[in-house]
Amino acid sequence: MNSLQKPLRDGQGRSFPYLRLSLTDLCNFRCSYCLPDGCEEHHHESTLSLTEIKRLVSAFSVLGVEKIRLTGGEPTLRSDFRDIVEVIKAVPGIRRVAMTTNGYKMDRRVESWMDAGIDNINISVDSLDPRAFELITGHNRLQEILEGMDKAFAKGLPEIKVNAVLMKGVNDVQLPEFLDWIKHKPITMRFIELMQTGDNGAFFDKYHVAGKTIRDQLLENGWVRMTRLKDAGPAHEYCHPDYEGRIGLITPYSKDFCKDCNRLRVTSQGQLQLCLFAESGHDLRHLLQSDDQQDELIAEIQKVLRLKVDGHFLDQGYTGNTASLAQIGG
Ligand code: SAM
Ligand code: SF4
Repeated sequence: MNSLQKPLRDGQGRSFPYLRLSLTDLCNFRCSYCLPDGCEEHHHESTLSLTEIKRLVSAFSVLGVEKIRLTGGEPTLRSDFRDIVEVIKAVPGIRRVAMTTNGYKMDRRVESWMDAGIDNINISVDSLDPRAFELITGHNRLQEILEGMDKAFAKGLPEIKVNAVLMKGVNDVQLPEFLDWIKHKPITMRFIELMQTGDNGAFFDKYHVAGKTIRDQLLENGWVRMTRLKDAGPAHEYCHPDYEGRIGLITPYSKDFCKDCNRLRVTSQGQLQLCLFAESGHDLRHLLQSDDQQDELIAEIQKVLRLKVDGHFLDQGYTGNTASLAQIGG
């Protein structure tokens, strides 16, 4: 970083080395907690172009952001996904490019993504039972997704994070299967508490369960909570001497969850979001139209960041303007 520039900090002193960038709000899956009715393509507004993405990432990199996570919707639906990875990876100061995917194209494309510069992959797998997987996502593709993960390991990816949204009676009772699966694999299996969004109220009431149910089972069976590193993500991780893999718990309903939040999000239309559950975004797209706007863009990002509030009010049923997480990238 140039000595004249300050790293991004908000009013609470939180720093932001990491940006989550949504590439599209479209998705081909119909996860019951997210887009149970799928996507209607004609509702889709135009997404940031490759050039706009390059300008955006360059500005954040000047402000000290070193890692970009590509998400969505399903980011790999973009036909220029590989080009986006290459362009971001070439931006000075960007050290890591990560992605969060439903894994749909992994078995065919993961090697090419890694060649383009992908360093970390998070994949959503809510159940290891193919029938339950299909019921949750609307797609009978578990096998291909698992094969895609094996290809990534064979190509040299050192570890994979797998996300499962915890659902009462669906996968909170499948911990033993998940544990068997990660016994000899470098996988961090992360259980995320189901979050209420504008569109999933009834589903939430029926299926939300606290991450504590998993934590209690882990502690009873010899798993140990690991010390969190500074600037770590939102998961609390657990390890066990007999297991190569780890377990992570992401519990947005717990007290103090937001205290160390270092998440900044930009939507696929170029809105900077200060929180998953914010009332509105801050438009940056008008400042992505020419390379000459970089100083103005940087000043705008710094100004907006000072508005980031202490935390969300999810535990009081407050979902901001977020209809589903596909809208801004979970
Ligand atoms: N389509 C990609 C995927 O599913 O991995 C990336 C976008 S998706 C919105 C990102 C993450 O958000 C996924 O791990 C998904 O399971 C999680 N997610 C979506 N809706 C959620 C909700 N209501 N509560 C908790 N997690 C949710
Ligand atoms: Fe699509 Fe991901 Fe939402 Fe599932 S969680 S519907 S894969 S955006």
